[in-house]
Amino acid sequence: MNNNIEDVLSRTDIVDVIGSYIPLKRAGSNFKAPCPFHDEKTASFVVSEKKQIFKCFGCGVAGNAITFVRDYEKISFYEALKKLAERAGVKLQNDRQNPEKKSQHDILYLIYQKTNNFFRDNLVKHGSFARDYLESRSVSKETIEKLELGYSLNSYTALYNHLFKNKFNPNDLLKSGLFNKSANGTIDVFRDRLMFPIHSITGKIVAFGGRILHKQENTGKYVNSPTTDIYTKGNELYGLYFTRYNISRKKQVLICEGYMDYLRLYETGFTNVVASLGTSLTSKQISLLERYTSNFYMIYDGDKAGIKAAVRASIEILKRGLVTKIITLPDQEDPDSFLVKHGKDELQKYIDNAIDFFKFLENDKILAYTEKNKIELLLDSVQEIKDPVSREIIIKEISEIFSLSSNSLLSKLNQKKHRYKKKDEPSTVTNELNKYLEERSIIKILLNDVNSHKKVAQELKSDYFLSEIYKKIFENVLYQLHDEMKKSMILELFEDAEVQNVVAGILLEDHPELLLANVIRDIKLRKYKDDLEKIDVIIQKDKNNLELKSERKVIIEKISELSPKVVRKTLYKEN
Ligand code: ZN
Repeated sequence: MNNNIEDVLSRTDIVDVIGSYIPLKRAGSNFKAPCPFHDEKTASFVVSEKKQIFKCFGCGVAGNAITFVRDYEKISFYEALKKLAERAGVKLQNDRQNPEKKSQHDILYLIYQKTNNFFRDNLVKHGSFARDYLESRSVSKETIEKLELGYSLNSYTALYNHLFKNKFNPNDLLKSGLFNKSANGTIDVFRDRLMFPIHSITGKIVAFGGRILHKQENTGKYVNSPTTDIYTKGNELYGLYFTRYNISRKKQVLICEGYMDYLRLYETGFTNVVASLGTSLTSKQISLLERYTSNFYMIYDGDKAGIKAAVRASIEILKRGLVTKIITLPDQEDPDSFLVKHGKDELQKYIDNAIDFFKFLENDKILAYTEKNKIELLLDSVQEIKDPVSREIIIKEISEIFSLSSNSLLSKLNQKKHRYKKKDEPSTVTNELNKYLEERSIIKILLNDVNSHKKVAQELKSDYFLSEIYKKIFENVLYQLHDEMKKSMILELFEDAEVQNVVAGILLEDHPELLLANVIRDIKLRKYKDDLEKIDVIIQKDKNNLELKSERKVIIEKISELSPKVVRKTLYKEN
């Protein structure tokens, strides 16, 4: 696969490719255009002929010829590769996609599958309390089977030992997110919990949620899998895998908050349900659902927090040019408790009488937004709707509901646009990136000078990096970049689009001569000082910790080698 990508990229001219989709204008050694991925009148979109990459300095998207075609045509990476291969007359070899990366994912999928089998088995053999709990909530055996519910044993090592016996490697087990490292070794994350497996849309288990069964101190009612190589929170919807066909058949989806609500709705026959897991719906989740329906029904808790969350979710949906309906349950009720008390028919009435988000907002007494707030809230999202037709339709609706003229709404929208442009608030990612400029400098050197790699590898380790993004880039570049690699190919070292964008940005920057030795020294100093601070905190409490005291000496020694000045300050502080 990598050879294929390299072949295609080396025989493709990015200016040619992008120029066939949008008109490009030469600007110095680069080409420019208004960005095709966000709405703008100026030309922030830059294509570098020399480096064969593109980047938008407005919205941050960046990549090479293949990713441009992928994103512009909204097709898969492989489809885009095939398209460009044809264009360049390259015959794709039939090797497997990036075997190394693929197999790592496969191992994680396998770990999750085995774990799920183990949990399900536990529920039958050892989970009498969990079974009683499910029975008391009148969850049927069929539902338990169908949704593959399980039970994690009340043990710190049961799952670990089970998987270890099944010949999984400890390193892979640690990467799975199913275990934590503690002072006593590796321990199971999920203990004595009712287990809900989270399936991806293709049916692979990628995460778990665990519900507490016995009251415990210092732990939440639910524990969820952390982010791993196969799972990003907010990218999946609980239960969609089981209900996706019902959703498209019924042409509507009920979006609830949690596992138990889902369970109850599903059990009662509302089989067009998903749970958003976490109160706010992400745009990724919405686009998953959009494949099956465009009729969204929010059915969150009836209290103020639930309504607030439903409004927030509706706003996200509105940004995509769609409108939700909101089902408001009586205060203190969630779908689960409501169904237990009032039954199926009564809930069906609520669904049938659900009101449009705009109407809901207009009449809402609970959140008590002012009229002005409501309109601001709506216009903020309308502004993000890309499709001009849905934007106009929605503006019309807002104007009718709030009895305002479309014209005044439009001029308000224009005002906002201008204000928005000026502010252009940096995201948290940008903040992180700007904070660690030394790390960026090292990466700039690594990207532009392969000869520096050996020295950097000797001097720095990835745990010297504080920014997660730079750390990831550092590791990949240091171990995979080689002499001959084309700039456009470098981006293929990274799977994550956000990381790709950052790398493309660095590649496009000019690189004034940076003194490698100085940058290495700065990062080392920062790391040593950080270590020192941590040690000092412990020594404060534990004055006789000789081991740490001697470690402290070693660090000061190291600092003094790098910079005598800093040592004087550090020592002075000690007295
Ligand atoms: Zn852009």
